[in-house]
Amino acid sequence: MLILFRFSGICLLRTIHLCLPDAGGVVLRDKNFRKIVESINMLHQNLEWFFPHTPEEAVKLIAAQGVILHGGGTRILKTSPKSIKGLVDVGKLNLNYIHHSDKQISIGAASTYDDVIRYSTKTKKLSLLAQALSEAASTPLRNRITIGGSLKDFPIWSSLYAPLLALNAQIEIADKHDKVISLEEYLESGMIKTKHLIKRIIIDDDPHLVGGVKRFALIRFEYPLFTVAVALRAKKKIISEARIYITGVKGRHKHCKRAEHFLIEKELTNDVIHEAVKHFNPKFAADYKYSAEYKEHTSKVFFTDLLQDLKGKL
Ligand SMILES: Cc1cc2nc3c(=O)[nH]c(=O)nc-3n(C[C@H](O)[C@H](O)[C@H](O)COP(=O)(O)OP(=O)(O)OC[C@H]3O[C@@H](n4cnc5c(N)ncnc54)[C@H](O)[C@@H]3O)c2cc1C
Repeated sequence: MLILFRFSGICLLRTIHLCLPDAGGVVLRDKNFRKIVESINMLHQNLEWFFPHTPEEAVKLIAAQGVILHGGGTRILKTSPKSIKGLVDVGKLNLNYIHHSDKQISIGAASTYDDVIRYSTKTKKLSLLAQALSEAASTPLRNRITIGGSLKDFPIWSSLYAPLLALNAQIEIADKHDKVISLEEYLESGMIKTKHLIKRIIIDDDPHLVGGVKRFALIRFEYPLFTVAVALRAKKKIISEARIYITGVKGRHKHCKRAEHFLIEKELTNDVIHEAVKHFNPKFAADYKYSAEYKEHTSKVFFTDLLQDLKGKL
């Protein structure tokens, strides 16, 4: 353990400790532990850690080649750490907060999945997002995975993107200048691929928005194949606004505009749901387990279930 401590610093060791009491079972625990130890052995031997106190400092530090931000570290340990020469920890940047003001909720980038879930339980806000995050990974991992790290990483199994896109979230980032843009623009413009610091995510606190999210994973503790999220606004049961997104598809995410258009100015009846599904056609890539057709069919079943759930809430 002492050797590990020397090579990789306090944060990685904390990750190991947090992964050990995984509720997932002994086999998984051993596998995770082995993978983490293997990853640590691959890290650059002179890896430097930085603990800046301001976002400006952090942005300057990551301008150097091979120096990247460290949120929860859960992805960094799984990828190609040999190219990493320095890690800039976000822990001291005062980005671990969830604020509610002026009909908006701001989630600091260093907040973990678990912070969001706890906030939602306490305040009854952000329930769509909290529902998605509470199904992600395992308890120890949700204690580590940060909102900023997950947004930048955007794994195909992301539990974060579909609900945030359905909620029309905005993102504040810092590189040379601070800017606030919609999360959709962040993806569409390719900004996600550039080097920057994510500072926070901003979501409208809209009590009239009704939403739901579903993820498809065969086993509870498995990466989801896709996550679909729907947010609807209605006046006297007639839908005035619809936002529908799915992740895990070809191209990683899809804004399902055809299904949205179909739903506008309609009441969510069984017949409308039956027709809406015909306008919901995400495309998937086959993998070693499932064909693209199977995933497409399953996504339609999940979308139908989601609309059925929302029918009673509008
Ligand atoms: C077994 C397992 C199962 C998982 N299951 C799920 C799941 O079901 N759903 C889900 O959503 N996630 C899941 N995850 C998490 C996901 O795969 C990533 O590991 C996670 O999203 C990365 O977040 P992090 O905070 O640990 O980021 P890190 O590993 O710290 O960093 C990831 C990337 O983001 C960058 N970064 C970090 N912070 C910032 C910031 N503030 N601004 C800009 N860039 C930053 C880093 O430089 C790095 O490039 C799972 C992970 C594991 C290990």
